[in-house]
Amino acid sequence: MSDALMRTYARLPVAFERGEGAWLTDNKGERYLDALSGIGVCNLGHGHPVITQAIAEQARTLLHTSNLYRIPLQERLAAKLCELADMAAIFFTNSGAEANEAALKLARLYGRKRNIDTPTVMVMDGGFHGRTLATLSATGNRRVQAGFDPLVDGFVRVPYDDLAAVERAGNNNNRIVAVLVEPIQGEAGVVVPDKGYLTGLRRICDERAWLLMLDEVQTGLGRTGAWFAHQRLGAKPDVLTLAKALGNGYPIGACLARGEAAELFEPGSHGSTFGGNPLACRVGLAVLQTLQSERLVQRASRLGERMFAQLQAGLAGRPGVRAVRGLGLMQGIALEWPCTELVYQALDRKLLINVTEQSVLRLLPPLILTDEEAQWITHTVIDLVTSFLSNSGTTRRG
Ligand SMILES: *Cc1c(COP(=O)(O)O)cnc(C)c1O
Repeated sequence: MSDALMRTYARLPVAFERGEGAWLTDNKGERYLDALSGIGVCNLGHGHPVITQAIAEQARTLLHTSNLYRIPLQERLAAKLCELADMAAIFFTNSGAEANEAALKLARLYGRKRNIDTPTVMVMDGGFHGRTLATLSATGNRRVQAGFDPLVDGFVRVPYDDLAAVERAGNNNNRIVAVLVEPIQGEAGVVVPDKGYLTGLRRICDERAWLLMLDEVQTGLGRTGAWFAHQRLGAKPDVLTLAKALGNGYPIGACLARGEAAELFEPGSHGSTFGGNPLACRVGLAVLQTLQSERLVQRASRLGERMFAQLQAGLAGRPGVRAVRGLGLMQGIALEWPCTELVYQALDRKLLINVTEQSVLRLLPPLILTDEEAQWITHTVIDLVTSFLSNSGTTRRG
């Protein structure tokens, strides 16, 4: 490993050189099936020809101007995304954390307009919103925050999937102006809330005039078998943040808003040098067009159901398996004890997976997966988990 890199990641001992579809090839020529998509980024797989062509053409034409000028590609991407998400206006960023920063700034402006001088945003235990100071303060995981005190003020935290706790916190605090929440928690271990949770949050936000701000950085853009997870879960946000899959690997994020929230920023109140530049937006447009033309959102729904049924049949109810959960092609297998070694065991079998929160095996495969690839992933995962449990089960019980 290079000493010239800060040690922010404990990297696996593999280096990829090429990618094609769901497959990555390392520098020794070994092929791996990518069931993680660079953490939910390369939803169209690697080296998709439409994306490659969009990047190449745009690189030849124009990379960057500035938001000091009109950017027709940005206007086109905004119009298309607003149509898909039924939102009114967008601010483009380069990452998920920056999209959430924009959302948090909107919440503060929204509060100020209501003469609340210390506007507070409700966030959730286990939530993950990024690594900047404000977004790590919003994140409900002490490990993400450790060492970075003083945290940014203006957050109140409640347990996830607990509407009574939301009501209680609301009754105790009249400075709350918004709720920032993931429709399904990704980093916390693919935590799917109760059926009525999101609609319940929507109702509470309406009653109390709070903004419902959904962080769909991981769940958005087809991942869960709908364009946006909230469309499956039945509650429309006032503010919606996206990133990961929007550029299929090219960095781009977005903060979308409707109603009053869409009108709060004015010239000078927010900005970004790179955000929404011609290249990023050209890629974003190509991603949306490809998701549509290849019917990949529907594909994620159908394939997700099949894989989920296979994982359930193979693993649910086994001793050591807490739950098999997920939606569309976002799936987690929660075990009773830490299982990070599964990542290495999968790597030996040439399968790329991830373990989050120590004990949840997470799958975020590309949406272009073939039936055979999907089948191979579920079989391999069932096999790996089964032998992991029978080995570690005996040592742990013994
Ligand atoms: C990945 C992620 C982020 C952070 O995105 P970055 O692009 O790494 O800043 C924020 N929210 C959620 C839900 C995520 O999964």
